[in-house]
Amino acid sequence: MKVLVIGGAGYIGSHVVKELMAKGHSVTVFDNLSSGLKQNLFKENGSIKGDILNKKDLDKAFSKKFDAFVHLAAFKAAGESMIKPEKYSVNNITGTLNILNSAVEHDCKYMVFSSSAAVFGEPEYLPIDENHPKKPENYYGFTKLKIEEFMAWYDKLKGLKFAALRYFNAAGYDPEGVLYGLEQNPANLLPIIMEVACGMREKMKIFGNDYDTRDGTCIRDYVHVTDLASAHVKALEYITSKNESLTVNLGSETGTSVTEMVDAARKITGHAIPADYVERRPGDPATLVASAKLAEEKLNWKAQYSDINTLIDSTYKAYKKFLKK
Ligand code: UDP
Repeated sequence: MKVLVIGGAGYIGSHVVKELMAKGHSVTVFDNLSSGLKQNLFKENGSIKGDILNKKDLDKAFSKKFDAFVHLAAFKAAGESMIKPEKYSVNNITGTLNILNSAVEHDCKYMVFSSSAAVFGEPEYLPIDENHPKKPENYYGFTKLKIEEFMAWYDKLKGLKFAALRYFNAAGYDPEGVLYGLEQNPANLLPIIMEVACGMREKMKIFGNDYDTRDGTCIRDYVHVTDLASAHVKALEYITSKNESLTVNLGSETGTSVTEMVDAARKITGHAIPADYVERRPGDPATLVASAKLAEEKLNWKAQYSDINTLIDSTYKAYKKFLKK
């Protein structure tokens, strides 16, 4: 298939592109390179420098006629979204509406979308399945939920078929070591831990140790980016072959606390990784763990690289490789 990957130079996007290529699809990347990296682009692919806030850029890209597109271009820092909601309204919502409109105008009606476990908010039960109530606790999650609703309307009104992939906590790097373009100014846990382990920052903060969890720190379901990438390709094949939309959770079904992650990283890297316990970060639910049964049933997908050792080890290797260059 001919696939446009919007945000394909980014962290998850580049892993998705690699997997699409491995499965024989023809890929063009659309990215404004604001956080995506040139070094994440494969020379075998077409690439378009463009912005999702510029509808003309999108129209130009979609006029090249694609069978499907993957949309991963978004801001994703839950904490920041509580302080700067405007930034998330404009890029995540307005940008996605531009994409939806341009895509249907150019008759590109299969879409794979990066949604998030942040649509759920504080769990009412665990593990979280797809039917769990959606009450986002942060503005980032709210933008993802609204986009899921827009896609459902475009399905009804315009025949768009979409896959909404609700990632739990994406982490890890390409185990083959081909992709190691680090995210700039990361806010996520594992990159912050790695910055300490690699001497790029002195110490880190652990946001809250008074949660109702086994050690008081937040529990998350970390899922390897290579596992997420394979789910994108399977989801694309599902929606195009069945002509049916799909919403699934993608997680490892295993909960890891912040302290457990830091301790495991200390063992793997041999670095002390100094960490201070500080105030809770607004918008953080105590525990998020997925049920990924539906993804297994519909897509024959199961996380394979998402154990803590592979997550940390592949990330540490990417950091060391990137910093050596
Ligand atoms: N976290 C932390 N220190 C950091 C970054 C994150 O304690 O420097 C915690 C955060 O409060 C949350 C977990 O690590 O409980 C995962 O956060 P992240 O931002 O990676 O992902 P999110 O769960 O917000 O999608």
